[in-house]
Amino acid sequence: MPKGVAGSSGSLFFDHLLLPDGWGRNVRVALAGGRIAAVEPGARPAAGDERHRCGLPGMPNLHSHAFQRGMAGLAERRGPTDDSFWTWRDIMYRFVDRMTPDDVRIIATLAYVEMLESGFSRVGEFHYLHHDREGRRFADIAEMCGAIVAAAADSGIGMTLLPVLYSHAGFGAQPPQPAQARFINDMDGYARLLDRADVHARTLPDAVVGVAPHSLRAVSPDQLRDLAALAKGRPVHIHIAEQLKEVDDCLAWSGQRPVEWLLDHVDVDDRWCLVHATHMTDAETQAMARSGAVAGLCPITEANLGDGLFPVEAFLEAGGRYGVGSDSNILIDCAEELRLLEYGQRLTRRGRNMMARGAGRSTGADLHAGALAGGAAALGVAGGIAVGLSADIISLDLDHPSLAHRQDDAITDSFVFAAGRSAIDCVWRHGTKLVRGGRHRIRDRVVRDYGRVLERLIA
Ligand SMILES: [Zn+2]
Repeated sequence: MPKGVAGSSGSLFFDHLLLPDGWGRNVRVALAGGRIAAVEPGARPAAGDERHRCGLPGMPNLHSHAFQRGMAGLAERRGPTDDSFWTWRDIMYRFVDRMTPDDVRIIATLAYVEMLESGFSRVGEFHYLHHDREGRRFADIAEMCGAIVAAAADSGIGMTLLPVLYSHAGFGAQPPQPAQARFINDMDGYARLLDRADVHARTLPDAVVGVAPHSLRAVSPDQLRDLAALAKGRPVHIHIAEQLKEVDDCLAWSGQRPVEWLLDHVDVDDRWCLVHATHMTDAETQAMARSGAVAGLCPITEANLGDGLFPVEAFLEAGGRYGVGSDSNILIDCAEELRLLEYGQRLTRRGRNMMARGAGRSTGADLHAGALAGGAAALGVAGGIAVGLSADIISLDLDHPSLAHRQDDAITDSFVFAAGRSAIDCVWRHGTKLVRGGRHRIRDRVVRDYGRVLERLIA
């Protein structure tokens, strides 16, 4: 087991702790081997307990492209024509062109350190950068997956690795563009990649490996069906209906919209995560909710790229599940993702408390609970603070002015809407305290290494 990831034992005591059925008082949590061995509300602290005032479960981050952390802020200058997702993607392709596996490892380590500091405890890494600069396979076809796993080991974050199948440039199996050469695999290559990804992931304490057809643009219908068969109970993640151009291209190709086509042609169930699913008709929204698939919402990235807003109200009314992801990592902030998800709805629907699930309910608490349950399901784990689960816990500083004299759900509301990450004190991942005083224990080293990598990549 890599150094720094070994699960610790001991016990924690919280005056306030968010449990699956709501806030508990005076809760003693026993840890063993990185997992929660006992949860005892209404307890007295025992000698040797580490005491904290307030704790929440760590949040799953269901969608990340870690390497994109390196280009945060570099695509904010207006170009000669209309700027869009597609012009952003051209800049991303130029940035990706130079990266070595070691660069990816260091950039990903910084991204994961920042995720932990902001309250994310597990990441779904949607990983599509596989080959060398000429597009040739490395001797180990999953060398880049190994770099991602090494970043997870060094940072300590929980990993759900989603190796991506990317074969085509557009609908109808169009040949890939030269700039996509580092992403491309056929099905045979992908099957080998998945086997080797499993080998790398086994070095982590509780990693999950899923499968990820990149999008309906990038895989053929036959590949999609083969991949669903290859998945055998693993999580399945796909980008879908993020952009109107993608909807138009899908209509031109098939006569159907992307989500409509997917639900009609593939057996989508509760193992699936549909990332973005921004542009849906009401019928698609209802059908997606019925499928059990989790909506992978990435509000900060979707705002940055000008994608549009997911029809969350209709989706929730139909019983749909969702989680949040930091996607492009333009800004890594768990509370900000939840806040922006709600604010997008407020601005377009001109109302307040849109994501609270009924009168008198707390918006922050319902957002937090929804994203925790949906995010964990999408990443193939259970979330929350309960016996047998990984000890993934964050503590909040109740002396933060925005949390002063808050009780129960007012703590969650004030964390999400007011204090945000500035109130995070400690973060335990698999029982090990990685963050204290809001700073990850390897932050200084990682920032130094990251600076050296960026100096070369940006020069
Ligand atoms: Zn994405």
